[in-house]
Amino acid sequence: METRTICCKLLTTPTIADALKETSERFSDACNHILKRAIEEKTHNAIKLHKLCYAEVRELFGLSANLSVRAIRRVVSCMTKLKGKRKQPKKFSPKSIDYDARIFTYQEQDETVSLTTTKGRIRVPMILGEHQRKSLKGQNPTSATVIKKGEDWYIHIVVEFSAVPIDGNGVIGIDLGINNIATTSTGFQVEGKARQDFKKKRARVRASLQSKGKQSTKKVLKKLSGYENRRIKHENHVLSRQLVEEAKRHNYGIIRMEQLKDIRIKTKTWNKHLNRMVAGWSFYQLQQFVEYKAAAYGIAVEFVNPAYTSQTCHHCLKLGSRNGERFNCLTCGEEHADVNASHVIALGGAACKPARISIRKDS
Ligand SMILES: [Zn+2]
Repeated sequence: METRTICCKLLTTPTIADALKETSERFSDACNHILKRAIEEKTHNAIKLHKLCYAEVRELFGLSANLSVRAIRRVVSCMTKLKGKRKQPKKFSPKSIDYDARIFTYQEQDETVSLTTTKGRIRVPMILGEHQRKSLKGQNPTSATVIKKGEDWYIHIVVEFSAVPIDGNGVIGIDLGINNIATTSTGFQVEGKARQDFKKKRARVRASLQSKGKQSTKKVLKKLSGYENRRIKHENHVLSRQLVEEAKRHNYGIIRMEQLKDIRIKTKTWNKHLNRMVAGWSFYQLQQFVEYKAAAYGIAVEFVNPAYTSQTCHHCLKLGSRNGERFNCLTCGEEHADVNASHVIALGGAACKPARISIRKDS
């Protein structure tokens, strides 16, 4: 079983919004109180904190039994994450509320959720799209988080699903790059020009701001990088969906990509080009998105050694030469470099030294 988070917008009336607002305020107040106690008592043990705070929290903040339990858990998990980092958790702000099976239920027929609040149990309609409806179908979710974004309220519902395996044994190779963000061995290609232009423009804006060197620019820069990250993340979501759809369309059961994580440790072919791909282009994020979207269809994702993938001919496995967009093999002729690389990746990567490739060919 795997889990996935489905994000749905809540359709609120002023009464519902009031109830959620009050509950989120009490919830965060409770978290801050528990955090204070945890620091005083130097513990982030869930059982100890429960003994210490549960009754207090219920009385002071008027939270239901399980909302109090959730608040304690929230503080514990936050402190556990920061363990050993010599950091204190930041103050909790009234932007979210955690729910479990006792205080939240999802009703499929009328597409609503029922939520315990400080104003009693409320029923809230959700605005669902095709994707959310499909993902929630037949589900009996047991945990969720209600989140405030601007003036709107959303619910993130955690659902379990079993991967339905695709029966195809075929392999699709995906080459990631700068000029073409993605090229697949099935012939699907996404150009990188738009992203390149966006990156360049952003870099220019940043440079001009930095040159002014004012104190206030720090804030602006932070805002800009947030915007930049969100946009790339969105693009990665769209692209990863396209790539998984491409595998599905061909009924291929395996997706192969180059191992980009820890690339400096695992291969000696690390260079400026690959470093930029890893650092600035969020290819690792894209790969993660592909991984979990593929899992939903039971498509496996494998990572191959990136050494020589772009210098090896996928027909004869001999080393060839790459000249810009063109790849040239002395035996087999010319081909688009990224298309060739995607086929090498589909084969499992070149993964061995040039000498061994030619031995394999001769034998
Ligand atoms: Zn060849």
